[in-house]
Amino acid sequence: MTDTPKTLVRRTPWPDSASRPVGTPIQPSVVYASESPDMLDAQYGGQMPGYTYAREGHPNADVLAAKIDGMEGATDGLVTGSGMAAVMAAMLGALKAGDHVLGGDQLYGRSLRLMHEELPRMGIATSLADPTDVGAMAAALRPETRLILIETVSNPTLRVADLAGIAAMVRDRGILLAVDNTFTTPRAIRPFEHGADIVIHSVTKLLAGHSDATLGYVAARDAALRKRILDVAVTMGLTASPFDCWLAERGLYSFELRYDRAEENAAALADALGAHPGVRRVLYPLRPDHPDHNRAVGLLGGRGGNMVSFEIEGGRDAANRLVRAAPDIAFAPTLGDIGTTLSHPATSSHRALTPEARAEKGMSEGFFRVSVGVEPAALLIGELTAAIDAAVSGQG
Ligand SMILES: *Cc1c(COP(=O)(O)O)cnc(C)c1O
Repeated sequence: MTDTPKTLVRRTPWPDSASRPVGTPIQPSVVYASESPDMLDAQYGGQMPGYTYAREGHPNADVLAAKIDGMEGATDGLVTGSGMAAVMAAMLGALKAGDHVLGGDQLYGRSLRLMHEELPRMGIATSLADPTDVGAMAAALRPETRLILIETVSNPTLRVADLAGIAAMVRDRGILLAVDNTFTTPRAIRPFEHGADIVIHSVTKLLAGHSDATLGYVAARDAALRKRILDVAVTMGLTASPFDCWLAERGLYSFELRYDRAEENAAALADALGAHPGVRRVLYPLRPDHPDHNRAVGLLGGRGGNMVSFEIEGGRDAANRLVRAAPDIAFAPTLGDIGTTLSHPATSSHRALTPEARAEKGMSEGFFRVSVGVEPAALLIGELTAAIDAAVSGQG
């Protein structure tokens, strides 16, 4: 037996090159070797830049964060291991036991669960109110209210929050306004320009755009709060892996093109569905028949986004027929993929609600949400209207 040469386990120096890579390199290293204890001391002390340990920060996270900072008009945002890690880092960075959080009543499912189950367990009181109604939000405030969490456009009924009204309401009360901007993205609205104190993303969705990376992002206006959020994220292990960051940064190069095309398709699909006899109701923020149409136009500056929801007659059986009749449209509980995906809230995101609670929010068994992708609009409209025909006629 020959001994493995000991040089094999030592790291080989990275080759020098006078030219630089055009593609972003991946740096998967968990640890970084410093030259001396003096240097390490200076790095931990903040007098010298550089990385030490990947949970605390790494180049691929910083490259991605800087890009999203630029899109949101933010400073020193943090990339997290998921959208929920971003929500959690914001909550735990801003809140303590005894505080109260007021949430929008149509938050993302796991954010609702955080409000109902996890925060109360930690001594943080929570309640929900309708963010399209600033009077209802004001009535739900308590002396201990420290933070409001809303989404500008809600899932899946695409209601538009009264962001201006809520921002004005909290302005002089010392209440933080956190906005989850996943659905709208900075292409439609930059919440910091509308009075938000914290902006959150599930980067998993439209920003990364290819359903192959799970990531989040959180940025705060106030530097002290940013520091607390960073400390919470690093201590609780909420930060992200280099490879996911690399994928998301790669996805961002085409984000604006993808968003604009998907939005154009969504508007065309909404009009096609609106004219289809098998469709009972279609929801798209820029359609005049949307319940928050005027606010959507004012707040989103003509950006309707890529999400369309609609309802057909016929209950669960018709819903099953519709999905089976559109096999090329992924039936998957996500959004923001480059291709169109279809979701059925009654059996996925909103399955925990009673049928009565769903009905109150306008989600019957015939209710679908479409995350529109970038394929040719005619193809998508053809597939979906044919599937609706099959569903409502009882065939398929
Ligand atoms: C998906 C989503 C989240 C959670 O993000 P993950 O990356 O899945 O953890 C939070 N908020 C909204 C609005 C989302 O759509």
